[in-house]
Amino acid sequence: MAGIYIHIPFCNSFCSYCNFYSVKGKRYREQYVAAIKEEIAGRKEYFKRLGVSPTTIYFGGGTPSVLSIDAVKEIFDTILKEFGFAPQEATIEVNPNDITFEYAKGLKEIGFNRISMGVQSFIDEHLLWMNRRHRSHEAIEAYYILRKAGFANISLDLIFGFSLLTTPLWEYNLSKIIDLKPNHISSYQLSIEPGSALSAQYNKNLYEPLDDLICAQQYAILQQELSNAGYVQYEISNFALKESNASLQRSVHNSSYWIKEPYLGLGPAAHSYNGTERFWNTSSVVKYCKHYLDKDNTIKVSEIECLTPQDIFNESVMLGLRTLEGVNLSTLNPGFRAIIESDITEHIKRGNLIMEGDTIKIPSNKLFVSDGIIRDLFV
Ligand code: SF4
Repeated sequence: MAGIYIHIPFCNSFCSYCNFYSVKGKRYREQYVAAIKEEIAGRKEYFKRLGVSPTTIYFGGGTPSVLSIDAVKEIFDTILKEFGFAPQEATIEVNPNDITFEYAKGLKEIGFNRISMGVQSFIDEHLLWMNRRHRSHEAIEAYYILRKAGFANISLDLIFGFSLLTTPLWEYNLSKIIDLKPNHISSYQLSIEPGSALSAQYNKNLYEPLDDLICAQQYAILQQELSNAGYVQYEISNFALKESNASLQRSVHNSSYWIKEPYLGLGPAAHSYNGTERFWNTSSVVKYCKHYLDKDNTIKVSEIECLTPQDIFNESVMLGLRTLEGVNLSTLNPGFRAIIESDITEHIKRGNLIMEGDTIKIPSNKLFVSDGIIRDLFV
């Protein structure tokens, strides 16, 4: 289940809540494609050295769909050539505005079999406030274009927990997304990220976050409505359609992060994990291109962190408890496990954890407060 992540660090506008590394403008796009092809070629032995084969490809960003079909194809084909595999799942994130029938067909022909599209809300006033490029009707049109182009596996994103979102409007957004029947839905609570435009507004008292109790209520409605519509929650923010005769349509690529399979992130600001180390690329497309295209090795573009046994333990607890499967305690470091045994017992008593055999899980009615429960179990 190892995966390859390609970071496309370009957006045509910046959403108010976002602090991901991304640049506007077309200036570096051509150079970036040439540079990432160099990085892909240079990393082609990565999985062989780990003794695993990659199975998934994920183009994320940024906004991958701001690149031309030819540019996306060049990167995709280079991955297949250098790593030599047929991906079980190949996902690309798209912005609704970028989707024309020709573009969607082009993605299908390249070899993508899964689309992830940021809808965020079906209410234009919300989209304007978020500084999203698209409007509600464009997201719906893009969804049907993608279906028409042959995409059988589509994931849509929605955001909840922001001050303009009243509970009736949240119910409206959920009814709209359920009507579309995407195979997968990701839904995140809006957070104030340092460096985002929203954070600047918040610091000037121009934004008042939604009350936490209302956010919790919206999360509970999300869980209930999607469950009624046949979606299975398999992670805190992720829901997969379970159709009769079909398996759960969860994201194979993202699932590999949660079960700590190795992954390789390529492109500026991309992160990688090989089981014992994490490494990440510089958040500068300029430095990245200079390093790979001018062969300028004085420019450092990658940093590495060796994970301590404590880091590995904490990550296993954190990632496992985000999922429906939970964490099998027998797989954890026994010394650290002994340290948290009394905390586990206490959380079980309070209904924050359930124990099944050797596995602990957060029950679905406590997932909204999972961060606090997980933090309590860190050593
Ligand atoms: S949310 Fe996505 S599209 Fe919006 S600025 Fe961030 S990376 Fe770009």
